[in-house]
Amino acid sequence: MTAELINGTEIRKEILAELKKEVEGMKAKTGKVPGLVTILVGANPASVSYVTLKVRTAEELGFHEIQDNQPADISEKALLALIEKYNNDPTIHGILIQLPLPKHVDEKKVLNAINPDKDVDGFHPVNVGRLMIGGDEVLYPPCTPAGIQELIVRSGTPTSGAEVVVVGRSNIVGKPIAIMMAQKGKGADSTVTIVHTRTKDLAAHCKRADILIVAAGVPNLVKPEWIKPGSTVIDVGVNRIGMNEKTGKAILRGDVDFDAAKEICGKITPVPGGVGPMTITMLMKNTVRSAWKHIEGK
Ligand code: NAP
Repeated sequence: MTAELINGTEIRKEILAELKKEVEGMKAKTGKVPGLVTILVGANPASVSYVTLKVRTAEELGFHEIQDNQPADISEKALLALIEKYNNDPTIHGILIQLPLPKHVDEKKVLNAINPDKDVDGFHPVNVGRLMIGGDEVLYPPCTPAGIQELIVRSGTPTSGAEVVVVGRSNIVGKPIAIMMAQKGKGADSTVTIVHTRTKDLAAHCKRADILIVAAGVPNLVKPEWIKPGSTVIDVGVNRIGMNEKTGKAILRGDVDFDAAKEICGKITPVPGGVGPMTITMLMKNTVRSAWKHIEGK
């Protein structure tokens, strides 16, 4: 039986439509809209295209959006002063700093200067701590893990008591999604295992996963025989395996052997078009949440 496709592009559309309505409602009720600033230092082509996508999405939702481009040689002091300006700007509810930053700037110092109440990326240590505590303490879940959880929930996959295996333990994907799935509550309550390069028998762990989340960055790492029949497979990996000579675009593959896996599992995300479209979507959701919090103290 061929697995059901978890279509991130469609789910993204659904969530953005919900958010657009919410922003319209906010404007009608309070006269205000969510404000997001995206700070781009230098002109790294990948960063420029990612920032452009964020700005476009924010504008489509009716946000007050500022794209603040700074030269690559901006001093750390000037960058910290800029963040302080936005920390104190009541029309701005979310502050994004596109990474990587130039070498002469201490990235950690800059990220930690963002007011945690406006850290819609959810990377500030205060927000990481809140995520660990769970429940009402969570302000802004980090965007890729939040997108993964949303895909699991909206695909109708039961999570309570489910065996979840997460391949990868990075701070941006593996660790936070593992914590989120293990918390008490809706879309969670799972029994979670994290596996990584020092795990003794990767295949044995993957084989018992009702929900397998793979974020390793290794193309075709997960073999079809590692997949439990009927399980849900979330492939976070984005690997460039070549170039399409006709379109000039990169050929992308996930961490799972998709064609073989889809004949065994129950539901699966494709690459591209699965987790990828969810990250910016969840960033927008966090910004709307921040706007309510700042405007109405919700
Ligand atoms: P990362 O920081 O490189 O972490 C990779 C993790 O996978 C590490 O914990 C590593 O283990 C583990 N790993 C690597 N090879 C393994 C193997 N052979 N067996 C078992 N574990 C292995 O990567 P990341 O930032 O989490 O990203 C992971 C993938 O997701 C990448 O392809 C990235 O492009 C993609 N990604 C996609 C999105 C999106 O779609 N929006 C967002 C973020 C990331 P050790 O800790 O032992 O080294």
